[in-house]
Amino acid sequence: MKGPAPRREDLKVFISSRDSKCDECREDLGPKAWVTLAGDKGALCLSCADLDHLVFLPSGDAALTRRARKHSTLSAVVLKWSKARKRYERQGLLVEEAALQQAEIDCLVDQDARAQRRVREAERRAELDLAYVKQFAERVLQLYPKCPATTATSIAEHACAKYSGRVGRSAAAKALDGQAVRLAVVAHIRHVETPYDKLLMNGWGRTEARHEVEDAVQAVLEEWQQDRGT
Ligand SMILES: [Zn+2]
Repeated sequence: MKGPAPRREDLKVFISSRDSKCDECREDLGPKAWVTLAGDKGALCLSCADLDHLVFLPSGDAALTRRARKHSTLSAVVLKWSKARKRYERQGLLVEEAALQQAEIDCLVDQDARAQRRVREAERRAELDLAYVKQFAERVLQLYPKCPATTATSIAEHACAKYSGRVGRSAAAKALDGQAVRLAVVAHIRHVETPYDKLLMNGWGRTEARHEVEDAVQAVLEEWQQDRGT
């Protein structure tokens, strides 16, 4: 594959201050949505922008932030408009969960990081509807028998976190249909099994980056679709 183009600038995510709607999936995102701006396409939700697998690290711990950013293939700065100061202010960073964990390990000299991590993990887990996660994971395995069980669970947790944060969606039922499950699985494969995130980070557009990794994604899907016996 071609070498990625040189990195342009930080990806930016904006916390909206009014009701917004995603210009791609048309979903109502509510009053404090996290969106990216995509040129003439307008505002995209993090899911459509392929950034919703990242976790939020609030500003405040400079060393942790620097390390998390360094370890993360894909990261984005989160900005919010300050009415008082009339400018965008940095709220933190979106990074890969694995990168954040690695950064936390790097920072463990600082006992505080360990405590903060426990709090964050507890918060994340508390938001998940466990029955739904289980149901979704079972559905993944039904459709993709060779998908590793731990991967199915992680895909399900992600899907659940995503739908729980949304408004106006006949969420759970809709998310369990075959097409929705397929999209969740494809997104996972793209981020984890291909250089897709690296391409995004290097300034590739989503369309060209998706095209570049399409064959690789398809190969994994076909592999996972086979029956366990074969
Ligand atoms: Zn969207």
